[in-house]
Amino acid sequence: MTRRRAVAGWGFAGEEASPAEVDRLTRLVAVRFPDADLGVRPAVAWQDAPVAPPRITPPPALEGYCTSDREARLLHARGRSYTDVVALRRGDFGAAPDVVATPRDATEVAAVLDWCADAGIACVPFGGGTSVVGGVTPPAGERPVVTLSTRGLRRVVEVDAVSRAARVQAGATGPEVEDGLRRHGFTLRFFPQSFELSTLGGWIATRAAGHYATGPTGIDDLVESVTAVTPTGLWSSRRLPRSGAGPSPDRLLLGSEGILGVVTEAWVRVLPRPQYRAAAAVSFPDFGAGAAAVRAVAHSGLTPANCRLLDPTEALLNGAGDGTGAVLLLGFESARAPVDAELHDAMALCRDHGGAGEVPGDKGSGGADGGNTAQRWRRAFLRAPYLRDALVGLGVLTETFETAVTWDRFAELHSAVIRATAQALAAVCGDGVVTCRLTHAYPDGAAPYFTVVAPARRGAEAQQWAAVKRAAGDAILDAGGTITHHHAVGRDHRAWYDRQRPEPFARALAAAKAAVDPRDVLNPGVLLGG
Ligand SMILES: Cc1cc2nc3c(=O)[nH]c(=O)nc-3n(C[C@H](O)[C@H](O)[C@H](O)COP(=O)(O)OP(=O)(O)OC[C@H]3O[C@@H](n4cnc5c(N)ncnc54)[C@H](O)[C@@H]3O)c2cc1C
Repeated sequence: MTRRRAVAGWGFAGEEASPAEVDRLTRLVAVRFPDADLGVRPAVAWQDAPVAPPRITPPPALEGYCTSDREARLLHARGRSYTDVVALRRGDFGAAPDVVATPRDATEVAAVLDWCADAGIACVPFGGGTSVVGGVTPPAGERPVVTLSTRGLRRVVEVDAVSRAARVQAGATGPEVEDGLRRHGFTLRFFPQSFELSTLGGWIATRAAGHYATGPTGIDDLVESVTAVTPTGLWSSRRLPRSGAGPSPDRLLLGSEGILGVVTEAWVRVLPRPQYRAAAAVSFPDFGAGAAAVRAVAHSGLTPANCRLLDPTEALLNGAGDGTGAVLLLGFESARAPVDAELHDAMALCRDHGGAGEVPGDKGSGGADGGNTAQRWRRAFLRAPYLRDALVGLGVLTETFETAVTWDRFAELHSAVIRATAQALAAVCGDGVVTCRLTHAYPDGAAPYFTVVAPARRGAEAQQWAAVKRAAGDAILDAGGTITHHHAVGRDHRAWYDRQRPEPFARALAAAKAAVDPRDVLNPGVLLGG
């Protein structure tokens, strides 16, 4: 049976949180927020949501792959941030695109862009629509909008086993990429939490990061060459392992968030599938001690696949600890040889920093137990976004802020963000919890990932969210971090992005945009412009 995308929430229709899951969440939240108003408010059915009639009709030559069908327009009206989910549940689809185009090759992509340029239409590239920063939200106003879905381009086209690279179309989702590579014995080894729905083109456009903690963490590291259709022609780079020939054309497209061109395909670096695994959990008296151990591991040259440090509350909420100390989840994997020695080395470094934990009988190394644990973790990881929607339905404000910072400023940033966010939550929600985990570790710094859970005031969620977001974003920037390690800029992070980027670079980016998209067709208001 074909799974249909949920129009007004995460994932696939019919796979939302079960009554038992909602019940469990309600009980969990009620323990921490006993006074919260936790009744589930049913979501407005998308069939009943108001939507303005389309303002444009595609030219006859494009009719075969364009639609103004109501469901298609609503499905492409928003991303999946907390505020998107709040609005969607209320039946507020904002400014739905007038037309959704789903071209099947680069020529059809060019035809859509030509139509938009000639007719003064804005075009929003759309992969999986999992943006959490307003990156696929159609700009409101007089100007009609065509959303260009890349889901007509979703194949693994060819695999070069000699160079270990694959040519993959931009609209392929995580499972489609992995299914296409598996039959050749390869993997892209790129697993963001949005894996089920997000696409290669979206990962490239947002410089996404997967769940691996060290080594190649971002899609940047995996891209060998990129092809994009711009409003003024094809932008296709040469396949090379590295090139010193001037600024990299790929680097300019990576993170371009759909403003320079529509990525249609890329050559990506692939790997044999891992066969050996070893994992352990290490507890620390506090988050600072755990962070020092993570730094030592990152400096050691060891490259754990998993090196996720949970603060005491995160550890408690994730069932990894009792809330009295921080917990580091360590895991190694390899396609070539057992990794138990690496795990033992990392554990020794952790013990040097006050960590306590044993390697669980070394059973994990390619054995059944390691496989089952990985599968359980993976299922929970992919299920989490459905539970986030259920929390929203219960009236819970739930949001994440992520950043990266060098180790010398890490401790200061961590305490400044926790303090500022907790103060904002107390002021606007009356209560709330802020937790932190380290998701990625580098020799020179780390990526702290903050999660906020608070009782929301029904109807005022967007204002509450904006106040908390402002406090967290300001604290991150003031403490020397980046406004995003991997969630991208979109519309929601513009204020901080504009402060963060060097002014001459902003002018260079605007000039690049003007050169390839002189009529400002592509994603106006994202990264640049008003
Ligand atoms: C529950 C959840 C979990 C998430 N987990 C992670 C995570 O682990 N790691 C992470 O990095 N992010 C994560 N995200 C954020 C999001 O999934 C990423 O930003 C992802 O890369 C977006 O891919 P997409 O295909 O859904 O792109 P979309 O949301 O469709 O688009 C994102 C941006 O890219 C542009 N774009 C999309 N496709 C193209 C293209 N082919 N050419 C040009 N521009 C394009 C769009 O215009 C938009 O600006 C998560 C989001 C959610 C909701």
